Amino acid sequence: MEPYRIKVVEPIPVTTRVQREQALRRVHYNLFGLRADEVTIDLLTDSGTGALSAAQWAAGMAGDESYAGSRSFYHFQEVVRDLTSYPCILPVHQGRAAERILFSALLTPGQITVSNTHFDTTRANVELSGCQAVDLPCPEAQDLDSSEPFKGNVDLYRLEEALHRPDASRIALVIMTLTNNGGAGQPVSMDNLARAATLCRKHGVPLFLDAARFAENAWLVTQHEPAYRDMSPRQVAEQAFRLADGCLMSAKKDGIAHIGGFLGLRDRALAERCELLLIATEGFPTYGGLAGRDLDMIAQGLTEVTDPRYLQSRAEAAHHLARLTRDAGISIIEPPGLHALYLNAGRLLSHIAAHRFPGHALACQLYLEGGIRSVELGSLYLGQEDENGAPVTTAPYELVRLALPRRTYGPGHLNHVGEVLAAAVKSKERIPGYRLVEQPSLLRHFRCKLEPVPS
Ligand SMILES: *Cc1c(COP(=O)(O)O)cnc(C)c1O
Repeated sequence: MEPYRIKVVEPIPVTTRVQREQALRRVHYNLFGLRADEVTIDLLTDSGTGALSAAQWAAGMAGDESYAGSRSFYHFQEVVRDLTSYPCILPVHQGRAAERILFSALLTPGQITVSNTHFDTTRANVELSGCQAVDLPCPEAQDLDSSEPFKGNVDLYRLEEALHRPDASRIALVIMTLTNNGGAGQPVSMDNLARAATLCRKHGVPLFLDAARFAENAWLVTQHEPAYRDMSPRQVAEQAFRLADGCLMSAKKDGIAHIGGFLGLRDRALAERCELLLIATEGFPTYGGLAGRDLDMIAQGLTEVTDPRYLQSRAEAAHHLARLTRDAGISIIEPPGLHALYLNAGRLLSHIAAHRFPGHALACQLYLEGGIRSVELGSLYLGQEDENGAPVTTAPYELVRLALPRRTYGPGHLNHVGEVLAAAVKSKERIPGYRLVEQPSLLRHFRCKLEPVPS
């Protein structure tokens, strides 16, 4: 059971099918355009959408809003140092600011970063620095149905090969994403991380963790990596941070905060360069674009997130929803992670071609059937078209992500999602594909307009 009870409740919007049909037409069938008040169960993201604890709200009340040297900063710094072992801690308003600052200070155009999989903003910030982001996921990740426990691993063979190639001197950084968000939230084993760290040290390349879900990764390590079975998630997390030279952190995930993040560094000279950018673009180094209360709430969240009872109940919620999904006849990327389930919409809606966006079609249907907001991760997100609308590239898989906000939805909500999934499967032959009618040149899935194409 959940290791907490409910002290504050927020009503959730309930709409009729006719209202949902009208809303979808109004936003040109783009779920990002909906008002949150039109959504009953919002599984768009687990980022910044969790419920704070009473202790976090209390910590917020005690926050110190001094511009320089606030008590909240020193407390935050102590908590983060203790967890990560990094001497230099720079607060930022969210994870991508840490990326931009680190890459601006560390990368020079023409260099390469290598990762198990770069998260999309991480890749964008590498590319904005004039560099190339190379993903080397392990081969097991390609089999969506296998329940190998560590499909988030980096391919060590290809990493070593990359570090030996003639252009290896261009590799500026290796980034391990824990859990691997761009790779269906699959975890990285400590063995894989330690071997990657050894390779990086041998070749003099710094290793950074993109640690947004470090606690969920640590939990899965204690469950599936025999050598770590008797350790606490906190101990595993501490070890993981100690294997790296620094970290990028979005506190909107495993900080269980609504906003915030940090950059952790061992290298003091690099930290000084980053601090200049921090002051110029985020704020003075003792608040970094956050309020004092945010720093206190994050510090408290970081101490709560490794509680094994919390992590276990989160894993069980994901497994419960995974069972409902399989029972409805929809396959997911196995095994289910903790922060989201990834539905294999391409397999379910095989009558819809990739360029008619089966993932998007399923996401729209889940909204129509039961007011659930999810997000497509398929050819709408990853594909490209030429000027005439002919598909140039499509995604390898057509997926829909159901993200699970932290401590927010209970079994009743998840059962509703299960019923909606079953209803969608029942009407699957009648689910239409979609055609793009307008798209911006960059990040099109956020802003594009679509219309249904009845088959
Ligand atoms: C969310 C996320 C980021 C970016 O963090 P924001 O706080 O959204 O800016 C970077 N990496 C990973 C793995 C993430 O999940």
